[in-house]
Amino acid sequence: MFGKECIFARRFDTGATVRLTLVGNVLASIEPAESAPEHTWFAPALFDPQINGYAGIDFQRDDFSIDDLLKAVRGLRQAACGQFFFTLTTEDWAILLTRLARARSLRNESKELASAIAGWHIEGPFLSAAPGFHGAHDPSMMLDPTPDHIRELRAAAGDDPLLITIAPERPGAIKAIALAVSLNICVSLGHTDAPADILAEAVQAGATGFTHIGNGCTQALDRHDNILVRVLDTPGLFPSIIPDAIHVSPAMFRLLNTALPMRHCFTTDAMSAAGAPAGRYRIGKIETEVGTDRIVRMPGKTNFAGSALRPIDGVFTAARMLNCSWRETWFRSSLAARRYAGLSNQPDGLPFCVLHIEGNTFKGGSIFADGQRIEIQSA
Ligand SMILES: [Zn+2]
Repeated sequence: MFGKECIFARRFDTGATVRLTLVGNVLASIEPAESAPEHTWFAPALFDPQINGYAGIDFQRDDFSIDDLLKAVRGLRQAACGQFFFTLTTEDWAILLTRLARARSLRNESKELASAIAGWHIEGPFLSAAPGFHGAHDPSMMLDPTPDHIRELRAAAGDDPLLITIAPERPGAIKAIALAVSLNICVSLGHTDAPADILAEAVQAGATGFTHIGNGCTQALDRHDNILVRVLDTPGLFPSIIPDAIHVSPAMFRLLNTALPMRHCFTTDAMSAAGAPAGRYRIGKIETEVGTDRIVRMPGKTNFAGSALRPIDGVFTAARMLNCSWRETWFRSSLAARRYAGLSNQPDGLPFCVLHIEGNTFKGGSIFADGQRIEIQSA
């Protein structure tokens, strides 16, 4: 029947040596072991709370197939990402709900998709329409959130984990946040220029996250009072950061890491160009160009439209920027990212990785998910 296999490795968090017993590529037990190879590591698979598309597949469409989604999922797994939140961005509200329902029904038809798509992230349309703050989202589509919107969203997602990014300064937003939290929707603030008192009210109402801090804001910030310093000065917010050395400069990345020592995670905010060659890609209605520098550019504009970052590359880019061990940044892209998304960190049954890493250099590894063993591809 299924082959039994023992792997000796060190835990990425504690460094303790363990013996993993796998039956048919499923983890049957973890026991302490006397020794393990120095560079073989056992770690949870990466989790990404914000994936807009991957491997050439744009999630902001109405015509992708199960095979398209499987291509994206397998590409993510080749980049060590076992699970993610399928992300939909600003669109006409009815279209957005239809898209969510369609993606959900496709996901439910495939065991592999069901295990990989851990939930849904709705980024928009309850965002700031102010120049610079709306980013690549269409400001003419923005809405003030109502209780009906929140209930419709919850209904479209069923009981699935659900995350929503909201600008709390929009009329009705604080009430909407409280209702969302009562319906078990995780609320992250973002694409916002909210004053400090409104950020505090949003936290009081139950908002816990802040979406890709350092982006979704104008390039020209007031030096005395701007959204970055207000968020850093608001207790209770747990931001995500894009660790590609492009969306946030290495110096700012280090400063954010220092200012938020125990409360931040990483997200790629990947769009369809991630895990795919340089070329032209779409995110919804937006045509983008991705060069060999991996920057996702909207032709003729200065703002970015998502990233072309592979999750595992984010881990090692972050470690380089911070001059720290990959073990710290792996945590930010796995367990900390799950916390940001409101997911439990219980590792039982979740995808995991066995990695060969020397110093901060990835030498190879596998991700184990759904009884499959998939080789992780280096950049
Ligand atoms: Zn965004």
